[in-house]
Amino acid sequence: MKEHLLKYWKKTALIKDKKLIEAFKKVNRENFVLEEDKPKAYGDYPLNIGYEQTISQPTTVMLMTQALELKEGNKVLEVGTGSGYQAAIISELIGNKGKVYTTEIVNELVKLATDNIKKAKIKNIEIIKKDGSSGLKKFAPYDRIIVTAACPKIPDGLIEQLNSNGILIAPVGPLYMQEMLKLIKKEDGSLEKTSLGHFIFVPLKGENGYL
Ligand code: SAH
Repeated sequence: MKEHLLKYWKKTALIKDKKLIEAFKKVNRENFVLEEDKPKAYGDYPLNIGYEQTISQPTTVMLMTQALELKEGNKVLEVGTGSGYQAAIISELIGNKGKVYTTEIVNELVKLATDNIKKAKIKNIEIIKKDGSSGLKKFAPYDRIIVTAACPKIPDGLIEQLNSNGILIAPVGPLYMQEMLKLIKKEDGSLEKTSLGHFIFVPLKGENGYL
């Protein structure tokens, strides 16, 4: 199944980043799905992880990660830890000197992701139980920010917490479908915005979310 995805990304030229492909091969997705879904771990669709939440489909995780243009040593904020899989892929690409801070609003998922990350023996991820819809001031600014739940708009706090030349990726728009936005914060503070296409995510909750 893993091979099937690799072939698909090659054929379509969707994923070209070689280091990202290596990270995908290295991080065992089976560690991040529910026991009964292990045989489906490499299907290209989202899977339930409980509490009405999902682990995103592999192609979506890869497209978002590629768009982040991660570099070794980057400090990254993720809003929406879920299973911890997206954070694990990021952690591979930023190496030991980098750090992922990831926030999750559902207590039980904080526990699930903590167990998953431990099983995967990853050390550079810190999971924080918090409404991340205004970001995480404590460790700001970040080189990269990724939101993995549907936002009504990009919260101002996230843009403030992004470093100069930093990149932010977030699905923005109504709950039936969102546009994946990539923002690059220029040195003069202006934002360069591009669209990566349309996706469907679970809703962002909390202060700047839908619920
Ligand atoms: N990145 C995850 C998938 C995320 S699904 C993975 O790799 O598995 C979206 C997650 O965002 C859910 O777990 C949901 O509980 C969480 N979430 C929703 N609103 C949030 C908020 N305001 N702050 C932090 N986490 C939030």
